[in-house]
Amino acid sequence: MSRILLAACASLLLAATAVAAPKGDPALVWELSDLFPTVAAWDTERAAIEKEIGGITRFKGTLGRDAKSMLKAMDTLGALDKRLARLAVYASLKSDEDVRASAEQARNQSAATLLSRFGEATAWIRPEVLAIGAAKVESFIAAEGGLKKNAFFLRDTLRGAPHTLSPETEDVLAQSANPLGQPGQVYSIFANGELPYPTVTLSDGKALKLDQAAYEKNRQSSNRADRKKVFDAFWGSFKAFEGTLGANLQAAMLGNVFNAKARKFKSALDQSLFADNMPEPVVRTLIAEVNRALPTFHRYLKLRARMLKVKDLAYYDVYAPLTSIKNTYNVDDSKRLTLAALAPFGAEYTDILKDGFAKRWMHVYPQPGKASGAYMNGAAYDVHPYLLLNHNDDYDSLSVFAHEWGHAVHSVLTKRAQPYELSNYATFTAETASITNEVLLFEHMLAQAKTREEKIAFLNEALDQIRGSYFRQTMFAEFLLNTHTLAEKGEPLTGERMTQVYCDLLRRYHGAAKDVMKVDPAYCVEWAFIPHFYRGFYVYNYATSMAGGAYLADAIAKQGEPARKKFIALLSAGGSDYPYNLYKTAGVDMATPTPYRALEARMNRIMDEMEKLLAEK
Ligand SMILES: [Zn+2]
Repeated sequence: MSRILLAACASLLLAATAVAAPKGDPALVWELSDLFPTVAAWDTERAAIEKEIGGITRFKGTLGRDAKSMLKAMDTLGALDKRLARLAVYASLKSDEDVRASAEQARNQSAATLLSRFGEATAWIRPEVLAIGAAKVESFIAAEGGLKKNAFFLRDTLRGAPHTLSPETEDVLAQSANPLGQPGQVYSIFANGELPYPTVTLSDGKALKLDQAAYEKNRQSSNRADRKKVFDAFWGSFKAFEGTLGANLQAAMLGNVFNAKARKFKSALDQSLFADNMPEPVVRTLIAEVNRALPTFHRYLKLRARMLKVKDLAYYDVYAPLTSIKNTYNVDDSKRLTLAALAPFGAEYTDILKDGFAKRWMHVYPQPGKASGAYMNGAAYDVHPYLLLNHNDDYDSLSVFAHEWGHAVHSVLTKRAQPYELSNYATFTAETASITNEVLLFEHMLAQAKTREEKIAFLNEALDQIRGSYFRQTMFAEFLLNTHTLAEKGEPLTGERMTQVYCDLLRRYHGAAKDVMKVDPAYCVEWAFIPHFYRGFYVYNYATSMAGGAYLADAIAKQGEPARKKFIALLSAGGSDYPYNLYKTAGVDMATPTPYRALEARMNRIMDEMEKLLAEK
């Protein structure tokens, strides 16, 4: 069953803080009555869905009778799934308007409960399809045209046969999921609450408790001594728990290794790529190509040292501001600039933007209690997408605006072309839609920048994004790969060992042996802080999306119409095929060096331009 509850994006840069006063214009607040006219209508629908979930068991054992029976079950369950998604979208958006409102939190919770009940009530479907077997399923698909929209789900289910175990073993594995998931909980409780964060006194004389938010803010200090102090204190507090956090992360990794082995996968990586049917060479090629491109990354770091005017660049200098974009952009500017920047996608694309801008799809400005960050939610198939922003009228807000609208247009194009059953797209393609927009926005802003300072600021922004989304995320993926490989060999993974593995990567990526950057071993405990390490291997998606998105944006600039058509087709394909195949149809094989070399070339072009501007006085 397909469900895109939060087709949210976690563009890693989104830590918008809700500070500005609420802007009262209702046109800047989303219209939830497009989902349900009244709260009472939502309550009625909830009760109706609950009743229908109770009746699902009548389909159990009927799928294999004949094609018509299978179609009837698929259609009934699909329709219910779609209604449930709409119900949940309303509850989720409403609760994000004010996360302090307990009635709305309760509504959201009740939708979540219904979703998990639906999940339990339909858990028999995949085993039943597997029991029917490929031959019979294929004969049903051939005999009944209505099953065409279900064929992808049915074949995807059958693909899982070699990794599906006996009912008793499946039962044991299902019961093991909760205990095996606990290390992530332990990390969260520790890092968000019980870890004693240090207090530091910075150059302004004020004492500051260095929790995660304060660390993220103050590592960007323009005062170098403060940056060093912040790094020393923050990583010092993690170092004190290196053994504990290492044992905890090892437990998470051993859980992944256990699951992979139990389900007869080659490795934990193999298992994590299975859901998207992603060929392993995609990840291997990404890592190999990023390593090959390290001299280009080192060129960037040297440029950073030059702009910071430091001779001995250190790891604590990596977030120091080089320039800043001082221009402000209100939401009308964001609309205008996004439309202009995305004009290369053609009228079909920009018409969707214009339509969405004119209607109330967005909750634009921060307000007290509103959820932080930004996302697009496109899960209400029969309605339009919704976007939550916290627009602060700066360049970052403009960039997030263009990013989230990429997700929104992706959803609209998908819904136009695909039935509900094929509308659930993968993160791999989702972030392509949004990151390509950031690339085009950057090109547009650079082209229309008037002063040298403005140009330098935009170039710097683009370079910093490649550093954070491409090099850093691939370093994370390599850490996950190396540590899981050690665990699979049965080698002990202590905190000390993890620090050693991380240190090797940190030093290699940042050119420590080549005098590009000094990496104090005290900072090599950074792995202990990264929450993504508790969530499998998915970090590589950010790096591949960045390379793929930049490649497709370049292709549109160079080839025009044929590349533009392929890009629109990629977005319109939704979840009708696996993301690797969709990319191939769009003209790029993500298992080859091509897209990664294109991104490297792009980075070099940006640095050429930057050096040219820096040489001008
Ligand atoms: Zn995103």
